[in-house]
Amino acid sequence: MPRILIIEDEEKLARFIELELSHEGYESAKAHDGRAGLELARQEDFDLILLDIMLPGLNGMEVLRRLRQEKSTPVILLTARDSVMDKVAGLDAGAMDYITKPFAIEELLARIRVSLKYRGSGTATAGEGAGGPTGSTLSPNGKDPFSMTWGHLLLEADKHRVSWAGQEISLTNREFLMLKTLLENRDIVLSRDSLLEKVCGYDYLGETNIVDVYVRHLRAKIDEVYGVKMLQTVRGVGYVIRSQ
Ligand code: CA
Repeated sequence: MPRILIIEDEEKLARFIELELSHEGYESAKAHDGRAGLELARQEDFDLILLDIMLPGLNGMEVLRRLRQEKSTPVILLTARDSVMDKVAGLDAGAMDYITKPFAIEELLARIRVSLKYRGSGTATAGEGAGGPTGSTLSPNGKDPFSMTWGHLLLEADKHRVSWAGQEISLTNREFLMLKTLLENRDIVLSRDSLLEKVCGYDYLGETNIVDVYVRHLRAKIDEVYGVKMLQTVRGVGYVIRSQ
């Protein structure tokens, strides 16, 4: 049974969504602020997260950004703002979809079915399957959830494979994780500390300049070979891969 986390500070709305989800045969959990939501999302495995943007404590974008440093759980943003910037920023930060409040519950349920289906869990049979199989692996925003591109670079997360215009690039596990983290957080400057956590784990006790070493390796294998400036240094802060 798919498990869905609802991070929403409007308790009535959260309760309403929870009831509707249980009608549809989903299990759910709720959090009413950003910090509690992030904690739950980190500690437990959910098939999908419904994430409000305007939240007390930690806003939804920040929750998403931090979550993406360690997990790729699909996220649908719930946004009261109808601003294009929010949506673009949300999708760039790794959300799969967004829905603008107020929304019809049927629309939310349809998007949930689609998101669960694209996740490839094979368990998205709770609803009546609206949204329909498309036979495509593209997510609603036109991206394959398991692969990311930058120019001619293609990172296939499920295959643990990186290539440039079809030519495979051989990376170590940590180089791969570093590249994946930066691509998932495109346009967000990541500190050495957060990259270190992601790449080496929380219990790593060595120097943070190991991050610089991996970045140098990646530049030698990608930027220098293909004549691009993909991995950018933000002095005094960390690293970022920007959208082109
Ligand atoms: Ca809110």
